Amino acid sequence: MFLNPRQTLSTCKNSDCEDCPVKKELNCHFNLKQLVRFITIVMPAAIVGGYGIVIYNPLYIIIWILMFIIYFGFVEIRVMCSHCPHYAEPNMKSLKCWANYGSPKLWKYRPGPMSMTEKIIFKAGAIIIFAYPIPFLILKLELLSYILLGIYGVLISTAFFLLKKYYCSYCINFACPLNNVDNKIREKFFSKNQVVKDAWRQ
Ligand code: SF4
Ligand code: SF4
Repeated sequence: MFLNPRQTLSTCKNSDCEDCPVKKELNCHFNLKQLVRFITIVMPAAIVGGYGIVIYNPLYIIIWILMFIIYFGFVEIRVMCSHCPHYAEPNMKSLKCWANYGSPKLWKYRPGPMSMTEKIIFKAGAIIIFAYPIPFLILKLELLSYILLGIYGVLISTAFFLLKKYYCSYCINFACPLNNVDNKIREKFFSKNQVVKDAWRQ
């Protein structure tokens, strides 16, 4: 279900993770607890936003669901996740990580930074998806929808804060514009993962 915690990343030169200093500072491995925590962080906003759309017109929720599938299943995977060392695992046909679990790996691993175009697509896609419920909550013109709008704003902001603090600060995909890992820790990871280092130094 996840990469064996005793097995190193395919990009890593170590034979095991036993005494690796990176282990405490980054997540080279993922587990069910992290995945459940991720879902718990993002689901409340998705439920409130979805409910707001449904009370306006249930048909529009179909578009939102399709947007989620296309963006998180394919687009984000191409522009952002295909740069992640986790993506390089040769024996996994789909991602087995703490966020986009199960998304298919249709593209090859592309170590190194994201291009400007990829960053624009990544950010624009995320903004469009998370802003999608807002017009419906405003256009409904009811007290309930305004309350839902406020709750949605709080939940989205909280989810963003929690993910930045507890996920982006320990993430091995340094290419992501949201990655928070400082340079000293990045260097430690690079010293073990030459393929990744070379791609960043080109
Ligand atoms: S850098 Fe390599 S050895 Fe260290 S925790 Fe990650 S996979 Fe294991
Ligand atoms: S960037 Fe994040 S979501 Fe994408 S493969 Fe890496 S760990 Fe998973």
